[in-house]
Amino acid sequence: MAQFSNKKALVIGGSRGIGAAIVRRLARDGGDVTFTYSGSKDAADALATQTGSAAVQSDAADRDAVIDVVKAQGPIDILVVNAGIGVLGDPLEQEADAIDRMIDINVRAPYHAAVEAARQMPDGGRIIVIGSVNGDRMPFAGGAAYALTKSALQGMARGLARDFGARGITVNIVQPGPVDTDLNPKDGPMSELMHSFMAIKRHGTADEVAGMVAYLAGPEAAIVTGAMHTIDGGFGA
Ligand code: NDP
Repeated sequence: MAQFSNKKALVIGGSRGIGAAIVRRLARDGGDVTFTYSGSKDAADALATQTGSAAVQSDAADRDAVIDVVKAQGPIDILVVNAGIGVLGDPLEQEADAIDRMIDINVRAPYHAAVEAARQMPDGGRIIVIGSVNGDRMPFAGGAAYALTKSALQGMARGLARDFGARGITVNIVQPGPVDTDLNPKDGPMSELMHSFMAIKRHGTADEVAGMVAYLAGPEAAIVTGAMHTIDGGFGA
C-alpha cells in the first residue's frame, strides 16, 4: 500500500515551485490531495489534472479565507503550508504595505491554518510549514523582513508542538536554502552570491524539498516534532 493511502492532505500554496512538487509527491504516494493557489489558475488546473488532486483558489494574505478553506476540508491528516513570498530590499525604501502583506502570507496564514487544521485533525496528524534557512542565517543585506517572517515560524512550531503533542500531532518547519523555482531561479542575479555561502554550491530542487516533507508526513517521523529541518547545501553551516 502506498505511504499516504487513506490520508487526506491540504497544501496551502501548491500551484508552482516547491508547493507543486509537494502536491506531486503526496499524490504519487497515494494521498488524497487538495491544494490552494492565488493567481496561477492555469498551472493549478494543469497540476490538478496531472495528479488527480483538487485545486482551490484562495488568497493566503486573507486570514478569513485561510481559515475558511481549512475548515471546509473537514478532518485532514496532513497540512502543508508552503505559500510564501520574498520581499527583499533596503528597509529604508520598502513600502510598509508590502512588508505587512508578506507577514500576512508568511506568518499569519501558517499560524491560523495550523490552528484551524488542528481543530478537526485526527490523532497522529502532521503540520508542516515551509520556512527558510534565512530563519537561522541572513548573510546579506536586504532580507531583514523576510528573515523575520521565517524566524517567527520557529517559535510557532515549538509552541504548537506542545499544544498538540498529546494528540500525537507533530508540527515541523522545513527550512530550504536556495531552491530553483520562479522565486529564486538557479541562474538568477543572486545565484553566485548564494552559492558562495554554501558547502554544496548549487540550488536545491523542489523535489528534494518534497522528499523531506514526505518523510515528515510519514509514519517514520511520528516522534519528530517542534523542530526545524534544514535542507540547504550547507548555506547555514
Ligand atoms: P514560488 O514563487 O515559485 O511559488 C509560490 C507558491 O505559493 C505558488 O504556488 C503561489 O501560488 C503560492 N502563493 C504565493 N502567494 C500566495 C497567496 N497569497 N495565496 C495562495 N498561494 C500563494 O515560490 P517557491 O516555491 O520558491 O517557495 C515556496 C516556499 O518556500 C515559500 O514559503 C518560500 O519562502 C520558501 N523558500 C523558498 C526558497 C527558494 O529558494 N525557492 C528558499 C527557502 C524557502 P500562485 O502562483 O497561484 O500565486
